[in-house]
Amino acid sequence: MTLERFLQDLDRDIRKAADWGKVADYIPELAGVAPDQFGIAVALADGQVLTAGQADRGFSIQSVSKVFALACVLGRIGEQLWLRVGREPSGDRFDSILLLEQEKGRPRNPFINAGAIVVTDQLLTGRSPQQTLAEILGFVRAAAEDDDIHIDKAVARSEARTGYRNAALAHYLRSFGNLRNPPDHVIGTYVHQCAIEMSCIQLARAGRVIAGLDCAPPLLAPVKQRRINALMMTCGQYDGSGNFAFRVGMPAKSGVGGGLLVIAPGKASIAIWSPGLDGWGNSQMGTLAAERLAEFTGWSVFG
Ligand code: GLU
Repeated sequence: MTLERFLQDLDRDIRKAADWGKVADYIPELAGVAPDQFGIAVALADGQVLTAGQADRGFSIQSVSKVFALACVLGRIGEQLWLRVGREPSGDRFDSILLLEQEKGRPRNPFINAGAIVVTDQLLTGRSPQQTLAEILGFVRAAAEDDDIHIDKAVARSEARTGYRNAALAHYLRSFGNLRNPPDHVIGTYVHQCAIEMSCIQLARAGRVIAGLDCAPPLLAPVKQRRINALMMTCGQYDGSGNFAFRVGMPAKSGVGGGLLVIAPGKASIAIWSPGLDGWGNSQMGTLAAERLAEFTGWSVFG
């Protein structure tokens, strides 16, 4: 069976699901999204992008943006980042504050919210919030070779209004001296970064630089690709990362908008969207689709 045909069959099977999971409702603007939607796009090394389902429908990439912010910060300060953020899985919820006290304000990794907030703070150094967002958006557009990628301001405002936990994390980080900019500037920038809207096609194309595909624009040195993939594998799905590695075996990053960027290094960049989430806050049907795709293609990095 061809990959194209497999994706069509996968879309048909996923649509039979009885339980799609629950959409994130702590960001009011996302609470009204219907959970029973699905799209997938697979960008291959030769430049082809294969799709099925609602692959051209825009969605809020949320925490998938942390991959691109990390790419920007590694480009800017390289290994110095690790003085401020660790690179170990946390085993805790995405927005947990628990380990921060124990570890004196140095977040476990750049993909949990506390770590991503430090990354955004670092990107804000010497830049205004507008310039910082232009840098992240510029990277994403260049990676996707598509300028029609924007921030959904209504989603950003909605999260800013109700994001008490992230505000608490930012203040707590500041109390340890690991936040240099005013917490409201950092959170304001962070929620806008999370509110980037993309389709599966755009996200799969942007992920080509992380996958190191032959057709990808040369934006990221191979050593940075390897580091980002390692972090996606170990920390990309929060406290569900072990389960995801077990089932799928590919580096990936999830977002509470139901997006999933999955990387088959050197082979493919895969974007999946299905807004219903599982108990860890990762796309329920998206994870199942990634598992099926890994079985079909043999793209697990574990052979
Ligand atoms: N903007 C969301 C938050 O900070 C992102 C979380 C996620 O996508 O996992 O709560």
